[in-house]
Amino acid sequence: MAQNVVMQSEELFKKIVAHAKEYGFVYPSSEIYDGLSAVYDYGAYGAELKNNIRSYWWQAMTYLHQNIVGIDAAIFMHPTTWKASGHVDAFNDPLIDNKDSKKRYRADVLIEEYIAKLQEKIQKEIEKAKKRFENFDEEFFKNTNPRVKEIQDKIHQIEQRFKTALENNDLQEIKQIILDCEIVCPISGTRNWTDVRQFNLMFATQLGSVSDEANTIYLRPETAQGIFVNFLNVQKTARMKIPFGIAQTGKAFRNEIVARQFIFRMREFEQMEMQFFVKPGTEMEWYEYWKNDRLKWHLALGLSPDFYRFKDHTKLAHYANAACDIEFKFPFGFKELEGIHSRTDFDLSNHEKYSGKKLQYFDPEENKSYVPYVVETSVGLDRLFLAIFSSAYKEEMVENETRTVLSIPPALAPVKAAVFPLVKKDGMPEIAQKLWDELKFLGKVIYEDKDTIGRRYRRQDAIGTPYCITIDNETLQNETVTVRERDTMQQERMHISKVYSYLEEKTSIKTLLRKL
Ligand code: ATP
Repeated sequence: MAQNVVMQSEELFKKIVAHAKEYGFVYPSSEIYDGLSAVYDYGAYGAELKNNIRSYWWQAMTYLHQNIVGIDAAIFMHPTTWKASGHVDAFNDPLIDNKDSKKRYRADVLIEEYIAKLQEKIQKEIEKAKKRFENFDEEFFKNTNPRVKEIQDKIHQIEQRFKTALENNDLQEIKQIILDCEIVCPISGTRNWTDVRQFNLMFATQLGSVSDEANTIYLRPETAQGIFVNFLNVQKTARMKIPFGIAQTGKAFRNEIVARQFIFRMREFEQMEMQFFVKPGTEMEWYEYWKNDRLKWHLALGLSPDFYRFKDHTKLAHYANAACDIEFKFPFGFKELEGIHSRTDFDLSNHEKYSGKKLQYFDPEENKSYVPYVVETSVGLDRLFLAIFSSAYKEEMVENETRTVLSIPPALAPVKAAVFPLVKKDGMPEIAQKLWDELKFLGKVIYEDKDTIGRRYRRQDAIGTPYCITIDNETLQNETVTVRERDTMQQERMHISKVYSYLEEKTSIKTLLRKL
């Protein structure tokens, strides 16, 4: 019997980062030069896992919806794009430095983390009370317990002040909130803060050889604008009728102020975005539709539903009339995984204005033209990778030894199966090679004949391979093999001719898509 090893979240996160590197999932970028801050490379198994997550998203979006098509726009775009989208003027984060540690922070994140700590305090009070009272009524307790009410009032007050300060772009007030909450720098432990300043997150570079203002272009900070500027191209050439969506995956770049959480917050990352164009006035229905659809997509992976929750935005972005996040329970707490935004006609209208070209849709049912409204779903591929990887990581005690296993959903696992001849003789390697030749069409399949079977199993467990197939003496007699399942470690014997269809059923992305 396997027993889970329980770990503190900080220890767990450290182990996850180390495991990702040691087993070929994620390395610091250009590591031989000591790495580049908040930039990472994906290794042999990381690249496979990332590809599988991307395929699951792409196929769910563009194959399962008749009215969604995919595109692949360039990273570089005409510089006016970013004037029109508002990014040149408003894609800022408020930054603050601690004068003692010289560390830089996002002022909004400091306040959000302070609020999260207060919420944890409430949770602790609830847990304590749960133990004390029989027939515990949580709602009643929250509404009547003076200590809990006091903390709740405090949270409410801070949230209100913070919201107003953000809306008025009042940087002085944001600093004052930090001072009033007595927030200290986690490194120096002091409250010796600089003023709050705005910092634009876009990376600029030069196009061509002349370095002047006119040639300055940006690395895209989101993939969405490549969809907006192509709205009419796609609508006409793919003959789409409203409502319809355009999906895209690709790199985005942000000069993040604070980037200390592994691949959670990177300066170069990948987004998977879908812009859904609708008739004005119907956007709230579609907003609800996409909230449900996206949550369902996440839940189909089979991780605990307790890992997900919705959170409405405190402050709406300059383009939105409704917005929420799907948050995921990472080892360091609930954080944004995906954003769902009702972006109104902000982007298309502004591109009309700046380009002087009409970006309207002629609606044959209404017999008129209009600028469509947009509901967007936007998820970070790297963040999803971290969500899946971190929740898959487990250490178990099996027969007095620690077994490290990655319980990645089989349909996303980087390696679908491993084939082992029990020994390197008696024709077993030849049978195993032949089986590998057949199974390779399922995806990445490993052939291995070194070390004991136990060791080989452990190596596959550590990279999340869901099935190991062993060719043994019995195979020579009756053409059956053992198929060992990663999570239960149970072995099943089956005829060698059945293995391909058995694995296809369990490990294909189609199994996930069928649940949607
Ligand atoms: P945050 O508040 O965490 O900075 P955001 O609200 O700016 O994120 P969006 O602009 O809504 O993020 O981007 C959509 C998605 O892209 C996010 O939900 C996240 O999954 C991903 N993402 C954004 N910034 C990064 C980053 N620096 N590194 C990795 N993924 C990111």
